[in-house]
Amino acid sequence: MFRFRRTLWLLGASLLTAPLAAQTAADRAATLVAKMTQAEKLQLVHGWWYPPTGAPTPGMPDGWVPSAGYVPGIARLGIPALRESDASLGVANQVEERKGDTATALPSALATAASFDPAIARAGGAMIGAEARAKRFNVLLAGGVNLTRDPWGGRDFEYMGEDPLLAGRMAGAAIAGVQSNHIVSTVKHFVLNPQETGRNVYDARLAEAPLRESDLLAFQIAIADGAPGSVMCAYNLQNGAHACENGFNLTTVLKQDWHYPGWVMSDWGAVHSTIPSALGGLDQESGQQLDAQVFFGKPLEDALARGQVPQSRLDDMVKRILTGMIETGTMDDPLPDAATPIDFAAHADVAQRAAEAGIVLLKNEGNLLPVMGDARRIVLIGAHADVGVLSGGGSSQVRSVGGVPVEIPLARGEAASFARMTWHASSPLHAIRALTPNARVDYIDGSDPAAAAKAAVGADMVIVFAWQWQTEAQDAETLALPDNQDALIAAVARANRRTAVVLETGGPVLMPWLQHVPAVIEAWYPGQRGGEAIANILFGRTEPSGRLPITFPAAETQAPRPKPVGLDLLHARDRTDPNGPIPHFTIDYPEGANVGYRWYQIRDQRPLFAFGHGLSYTRFTYSQLTVQGANVRFTVANIGKRSGTDVPQVYVEAPDSAGVKSYRLAAWQRVTLKPGEAKTISVTVDPRAVAAWNSGAKRWTVPSAALPLVVGHEAADRALAGRIRVDAPVVN
Ligand code: BGC
Repeated sequence: MFRFRRTLWLLGASLLTAPLAAQTAADRAATLVAKMTQAEKLQLVHGWWYPPTGAPTPGMPDGWVPSAGYVPGIARLGIPALRESDASLGVANQVEERKGDTATALPSALATAASFDPAIARAGGAMIGAEARAKRFNVLLAGGVNLTRDPWGGRDFEYMGEDPLLAGRMAGAAIAGVQSNHIVSTVKHFVLNPQETGRNVYDARLAEAPLRESDLLAFQIAIADGAPGSVMCAYNLQNGAHACENGFNLTTVLKQDWHYPGWVMSDWGAVHSTIPSALGGLDQESGQQLDAQVFFGKPLEDALARGQVPQSRLDDMVKRILTGMIETGTMDDPLPDAATPIDFAAHADVAQRAAEAGIVLLKNEGNLLPVMGDARRIVLIGAHADVGVLSGGGSSQVRSVGGVPVEIPLARGEAASFARMTWHASSPLHAIRALTPNARVDYIDGSDPAAAAKAAVGADMVIVFAWQWQTEAQDAETLALPDNQDALIAAVARANRRTAVVLETGGPVLMPWLQHVPAVIEAWYPGQRGGEAIANILFGRTEPSGRLPITFPAAETQAPRPKPVGLDLLHARDRTDPNGPIPHFTIDYPEGANVGYRWYQIRDQRPLFAFGHGLSYTRFTYSQLTVQGANVRFTVANIGKRSGTDVPQVYVEAPDSAGVKSYRLAAWQRVTLKPGEAKTISVTVDPRAVAAWNSGAKRWTVPSAALPLVVGHEAADRALAGRIRVDAPVVN
């Protein structure tokens, strides 16, 4: 009976959808374009920005929900307005442009990447998308996937780390999650945009082949997996051309080689021309008041009339916008007329699961952690751990449910106008007290290292919380912890050996005190349930399972560039005219495609903590490697006394287009095992991880020879070794 009903249902469904399916999104978009007037087409290719402070710009149309962007719709054709919100980590409300409007804050994207779990990324995206729809947004400026080339990048926390396969798959999953709500997600910021210093003026230079094998590859995978409705081009220049008028990146690679059907929207204030942008491949100018003029308004109309931009290009822009809206369901699933209720309790659980899965246990000498139930006196120190956890700053800033216990405005700097140091109201102190009703748990702020050390003496456990705030528009000028925290940690560790450090940082930091501190946890920016997540990991209620998606250098000089390029120009500008322009400068990337851990391998450098590193409260061993075609099988055993989750990683050694060989992450799997349990894992090596771009032939080549392969606990590990012949082709 069930089978019969299901057959009928399938038949009915296929009859119903057949006409629609036959007419692809692009065909339907083209039909709509054919019905539009020139004015209607032009209306869709530029959008407004809602000034977060102060009055709306005169002439702004109705229909706003204050946020990053707005493009009015065309009611007579059933084309809805585009209401755009930032949403890398939750529906943003940077400086409370929507008074009192809170949303669920996920941990930083880098924390989500540290879960190595696309299901976590997807759940986070689906949650954000649901809140966005309830708040009446249908375009989310999410999907940050710029590869981390520099450990101090101001937005590294908004991205998915340094490996193109990991970053691409995680971002793709997050995008798919957002779009499961029938709204658009972007992927951003296309494409080589790894630092914030001089972000509007630097020219990032990298030859085609290494670019295709690294930063472009991360976007390519994210787009293949997530099918985002839109791609946002970046602020900087790339190989000599502004990102939003870069014909090679936008048209040749994205639209022609990858057959991307959606639209390219600009970043806010990233458009510098009409004709080069239109011909280069930009489809929509965002935040038009931030540009020198509305380039895609009257100037585009005039350029079309003069034949400087062909009419077919405008029609293509509009068709792409509509295709993205149709493919994602945005066109056919209207937003509610008024905000609808949100299940914040369920969403907070999504945020907590992401935080717990992404926290990385970096060090745990003598099994100091988890904290044992017999601890009677526990001292917490620093980082406002009595009231909350830190978040990253800039356009991704969420005002989270529960409020803002600490908010510190910036006195100066590129981010001062739109970023504030903001803590989410998730108190590690309260969470730890809730787990330890029989212990005395004290908090001291850590501003005085000597007082902190004194308080630590004799405690059963001391936990120092350390912070490093990162924000859009600025890079960290050093990887050292700010505010004398290294001295604080060293003093406390001297006073009490039972000291653990919990890092709340945007990315890697230096740890000069490491050899004196037995246990260290990287909690990133852990989001609005970060306090609970940290407590659960510290006390073993949840097993730590995160792995580093980014290398932690032992010294700044190990990185390909020892500091942000252009910092000297920024400082010189600040000395003369803090509001003046920064001169144009270029950045070369000698590491080419060998970003992150690959750079360390090639240079034979030992980082502080390798990419992929992360401990558990139990131990795992690997054995019985077999390789058949692209399939790799091996056994993972839990040889410890606790259940735990491991992330075995498969690396394959392959040459890049320049012939430089490195081991590259080609597959991984999360696996949860009970004590004594063993499981055979089967993973497939992704050929995109080992391919090299042949610029002459304009295609990918996969080595035909058998390649060395290792299974390891982290990038520097060689627990099992074998060889693999990856003969699957890679399509553009
Ligand atoms: C950021 C984008 C963001 C946009 C809109 C820009 O400053 O670079 O990531 O989506 O603002 O807020």
